Amino acid sequence: MPPEADPILSAFYDTGAYLRGHFRLTSGLHSPEYLQCALVLQHPRYAEHFGRLLATEFRRLEPTLDTAVVVSPAIGGLIIGHEVARALGARFIFTERDASGKMVLRRGFSVEPGETAVVVEDVVTTGGSSREVIEILKDSGARVLAAGSIIDRSGGAVDLGVPRVALKTLEVIAYSPEDCPLCRAGNPVIKPGSRPVHAAN
Ligand code: ZN
Repeated sequence: MPPEADPILSAFYDTGAYLRGHFRLTSGLHSPEYLQCALVLQHPRYAEHFGRLLATEFRRLEPTLDTAVVVSPAIGGLIIGHEVARALGARFIFTERDASGKMVLRRGFSVEPGETAVVVEDVVTTGGSSREVIEILKDSGARVLAAGSIIDRSGGAVDLGVPRVALKTLEVIAYSPEDCPLCRAGNPVIKPGSRPVHAAN
């Protein structure tokens, strides 16, 4: 299905958030496409809509879902987590990295033992950030009910140890730099969100 026709991807397409080119992903792999969630979520109407859809997916998992708190890793999870919390009638807090790079709750945020939580990100690729958030919550004694994201780029493969939902599940087209047809064609590779870097990468 072309992105223009997909109900979720069309929002990315319409807002210029569905990028085609030659990108270096966080994993180091190269890809001909990239979804820049921030470009969709700059529009509150899309953020609100996706938040409601994710809340509906969470309720589908657990019809009696009673979520006290939505927790997201900053920065990517901030806007969508906030909108999911609004739709669920929950509060919203976020984790961030301290000076040593460790994911922590700061700013006086805390969760109570036994409190019910869901974890929300914009995009799950390896699930690393969500996994770190889940660990923090479990260490605090919270009950993590589920995790969700707008996009699942793992093709559904990521296992976070809790039920997981996504509005759109995709298989990433990705090449190792040594085996990248776009590199072979001499196209400069771009790290999304920054300037082009040299083509030899
Ligand atoms: Zn390449």
